[in-house]
Amino acid sequence: MFHRGLIATTLGVRLGCSHVSRRALALTTTTTSAKSDMKEFLEVVSKAKHIAVITGAGVSAESGVPTFKGDGGQWKTWQYQDIATPEAFSRNPSRVWEFYHHRRHLVLTQKPNAAHLALAECEKRMRKQGRSMVIITQNIDDLHREAGSKHVLNIHGSVMETRCVSCGDIAVNHQHPVCASLEGTGSPDPEIPEAQIPVDQLPRCEQSDCRGLLRPNVVFFGETLDSHLLTKVEKELDICDLCLVVGTSSIVYPAAMFGPQVASRGVPVAEFNMATTPKTEYFTYHFQGPCGSTVPLALARH
Ligand SMILES: [Zn+2]
Repeated sequence: MFHRGLIATTLGVRLGCSHVSRRALALTTTTTSAKSDMKEFLEVVSKAKHIAVITGAGVSAESGVPTFKGDGGQWKTWQYQDIATPEAFSRNPSRVWEFYHHRRHLVLTQKPNAAHLALAECEKRMRKQGRSMVIITQNIDDLHREAGSKHVLNIHGSVMETRCVSCGDIAVNHQHPVCASLEGTGSPDPEIPEAQIPVDQLPRCEQSDCRGLLRPNVVFFGETLDSHLLTKVEKELDICDLCLVVGTSSIVYPAAMFGPQVASRGVPVAEFNMATTPKTEYFTYHFQGPCGSTVPLALARH
């Protein structure tokens, strides 16, 4: 069913969810052939030469960064899906910047958790042994890098980067606030009025003679993913000999297909999640529980 080149066919597919509802997910039963034998899995890890790790919102949630879906999936009276879109940004860039100012604040106050740290430590250990690991993350915080991971592909972008809408310049930006006018804004409380910052006082490009409007360098809902980055991802999925799918409910495309694509080559894939997902049936292993508990066990030095 899944084959090489599958991602190429999904290039141009917009970021979004399938029609699997939360209710349907909650009712997903555990009738799966995926194994949960940790001892056997540790042997598989010890033999792997290149591990591809796909991470999602569950990993960030354990650090206190709220997910786009589920509880807290709202800012003021807005659903994230209504405010993190290109249309919302062109209509009201002040509102979108206020929202991302709030998200940057959350990210800057959170710390990597045990899952982030175990992945970073494993990558470091593997590198010393001439082996390698890549993290392909859907998360827009920088917690993997903060934990020490070196080889990270941020397929949905990063809230710690800006992109100029005029010249396209991308810059890492850890200033908080990004510009003076965002100071004290971004409260999720619907009772507190929006700041309605004039567009010329929003973050502007610092390239000489540009001064274009900056936006967060993230993939908004409804936007396509960077095709160069997806080509890199495809290469990694093609060469890995073990794949971990961590903290993702595998319903946001195209990332939902990465694990099944690797599994279709006969390569072991292990899923770490709070519950089974629509893709669990494709995987060799499924470890249920908080990633901060299961991942460190699975990647323990032995
Ligand atoms: Zn510019």
